[in-house]
Amino acid sequence: MEFKIYNTLSRKKETFKPLNPPAVGLYVCGPTVYGDAHLGHARPGITFDVLYRYLKHAGYKVRYVRNITDVGHLENDADEGEDKIAKKARLESLEPMEIVFHYMRRYHKNMDALNVLRPDIEPQASGHIPEQIKMVQDILDSGFGYEAEGSVYFDVQKYAEKHDYGKLSGRKVEDLQSNTRELDGQSEKRNPMDFALWKKASPQHIMRWDSPWSNGFPGWHLECTVMSTKYLGEEFDIHGGGMDLLFPHHECEIAQSTAAQGKESVHYWMHNNLITINGQKMGKSLGNFITLDELFSGDHEMLDQAYSPMTIRFFILQAHYRGTLDFSNEALKAAEKGLKRLFRAYNQIDKLQASDESSFKVDEISKKCEKALADDLNTPIVISHLFEAANLIGNIENGSERVTEEDKGGLKKVIGKYATDILGLQAEEESQGQTDKLKPVVDLLLDIRLQSKKDKDFGTADKIRDELKDAGIIVRDRKDGYDWEIE
Ligand code: ZN
Repeated sequence: MEFKIYNTLSRKKETFKPLNPPAVGLYVCGPTVYGDAHLGHARPGITFDVLYRYLKHAGYKVRYVRNITDVGHLENDADEGEDKIAKKARLESLEPMEIVFHYMRRYHKNMDALNVLRPDIEPQASGHIPEQIKMVQDILDSGFGYEAEGSVYFDVQKYAEKHDYGKLSGRKVEDLQSNTRELDGQSEKRNPMDFALWKKASPQHIMRWDSPWSNGFPGWHLECTVMSTKYLGEEFDIHGGGMDLLFPHHECEIAQSTAAQGKESVHYWMHNNLITINGQKMGKSLGNFITLDELFSGDHEMLDQAYSPMTIRFFILQAHYRGTLDFSNEALKAAEKGLKRLFRAYNQIDKLQASDESSFKVDEISKKCEKALADDLNTPIVISHLFEAANLIGNIENGSERVTEEDKGGLKKVIGKYATDILGLQAEEESQGQTDKLKPVVDLLLDIRLQSKKDKDFGTADKIRDELKDAGIIVRDRKDGYDWEIE
């Protein structure tokens, strides 16, 4: 089936035609690792994970590159302020690389919990400084860059005379010119809308490298142009990221590759929309900033319970990636219920009474899911078809529909393929329910163990502890008794 993908550049759905099928190059802007991953990281993580899974399901051989920004991302988009990572390192008296690795590991842990597959290559900007220096030189050679006091800037005005700066974000150079605030009288830029390719480091700046222009560091936009083309070629298929990166980040990427290599790199630009919280943009200043760990633990004043990673994943996939998505406790509770209902139905399939014939066609469900995915990854429609299947299972249980033994297998396969393999949803362990069910039995065994210890029958005491351990139950002795939990 033809895959229709919405291209932000053309502002329409296009039939996906890879450059070198079955190979597909996919580049997604990853996190700047200076703090815990938050709700805003979950949406691009999950959106492009579903794209990756879908493309592989469709038979493509995907090379998925997602970068780690660990240098050059300054506090504001106007190339001013401190490097975000260096600032965190200064505040915590740590090496910048300690900050990078600490938060990178935590990011991975959160993404693993959300069942987001790791990319094939995960390059770090700090590991690609020579390549970035070379691209700065290429842009200078093209005439679209200029040096000023050890820093190098991209000359947007000059570029815009020949090329369409603003083609991706829809901005006009004239508007940018009048809207861009002049920072201060001493700016080295010829024009406030120019952006940094290389910045000379101030004396207190920590992360710095030698270059032909100064001891300094690369501009943030450069790393993605450099690392995407290094691993995927001068031209590649899909570049993704959140809509917040459209301008200036991705607009600058287009300008950089056009200047450095005479042509654009990206064939399809794909952007996920953002998440709002109770109708508001998420932001530290608004007090509605929620990290993924806080969501998973429920430890935030805006939350009235903990939400599992799968609930978050399901919640995000219930909206189309280009649509807005408003986060609220109520919406998450509804998602939690929906996800449980889906997997409860799935778990009933084996127990269904088989008939001589089926009153429905499994193929139809499969075709409908396939069609929805091929239509620009319409995950809410896929989910609605999965719920139709769940309703069908309920109807078979109450006798108003019939299923053959063979179609029982077919139903399991379809739900397994679309819910689990492509949407990446997994059944949750109902751990609290499980603990409640086991409590009388485990408590009884541990009471017997306590008595054995008092009777100096250590053989029995150890045997009970070991048997429980084999069953995945961890026992901790206390002065006045014991504690236990499921592993
Ligand atoms: Zn990027």
